[in-house]
Parts: sequence; structure tokens; C-alpha cells
Amino acid sequence: MIDSRIFSCTRCGFCCHGETTVSLDEKDQQRMIAALGIPREEVCKKYWRITGSVVQMKVVDGHCIFYDDGCTIHGGRPWRCRQWPLHPAVLADENNFETIRNSCPGISKTVCYKDFCLAVEEFSRSLAVNDEI
Ligand code: SF4
Ligand code: SF4
Repeated sequence: MIDSRIFSCTRCGFCCHGETTVSLDEKDQQRMIAALGIPREEVCKKYWRITGSVVQMKVVDGHCIFYDDGCTIHGGRPWRCRQWPLHPAVLADENNFETIRNSCPGISKTVCYKDFCLAVEEFSRSLAVNDEI
């Protein structure tokens, strides 16, 4: 659970917009298929863009196909969406933290770099032991 004093999603939708989406690993694919409750072939056809071995969600009107004033597949969203904005890249460089903070209004304006890194580390550990998060 992320401390809401550090991050609380405003549902602005910024992270769901763009011309590409995150790639889905096998667990993401299985979780999404289960959440949609339809056969894999149908999910592939309706919702995924497959390039070689890379599976991504389709983009429609400049946003992820599942975005509609919020995530419409919240329980079946990929792990990278679950992780955002607690991205391990911030641990490597404070500039990455500033870039992510500037793009995500859900991050506290007052949280310091050190505390955000601690939250990232804690969340990464929880993701590693429990991929149902
Ligand atoms: S950019 Fe941040 S606040 Fe906006 S929807 Fe994404 S996670 Fe939530
Ligand atoms: S799966 Fe949900 S959270 Fe992830 S990009 Fe699509 S709409 Fe956004």
C-alpha cells in the first residue's frame, strides 16, 4: 500500500495517453484475459497490438484502449501500470524523480527525494513478493 501522503492518484489520465503503451509480459496477458473473461484470440484481436514478440495494448485516439475517464480494466492492468509512478529509475538519478513528479500530479509536491526513494524500494519489494498488487 502506497502512503497517500507520498502518492495519491488524481485520475488525470496523463500516464494512459501517448502513442504507445507498456508491454505486457505473460502474467499481464493472463491477468488481462481473466479480467476480460473472453478467449485469448479475441483479446488479441480487440485489445492488443503485437509486434514480433512484443505485446502492447492498442492505442485509440491517443490513449490506451482501456482508458475512458479512468482505467476500465483496473484489476487486470499490467504490472507496469500498477507500479507507476513508483518507478525504480528514480533510484538511479534524482533528475528522473523530478521528471516523473512533473508528469504525475498525484505525487506530493512536498515529498523529498529520499522519502520517495524509500517508497519506491518498499513498493518494489511488495510487487516482487505479491504480484496481485
Ligand atoms: S499521471 Fe499520476 S495522477 Fe495522473 S492518472 Fe497517472 S498515476 Fe494518476
Ligand atoms: S491499462 Fe489502465 S492504467 Fe494502464 S495505460 Fe491502460 S488505461 Fe492506463
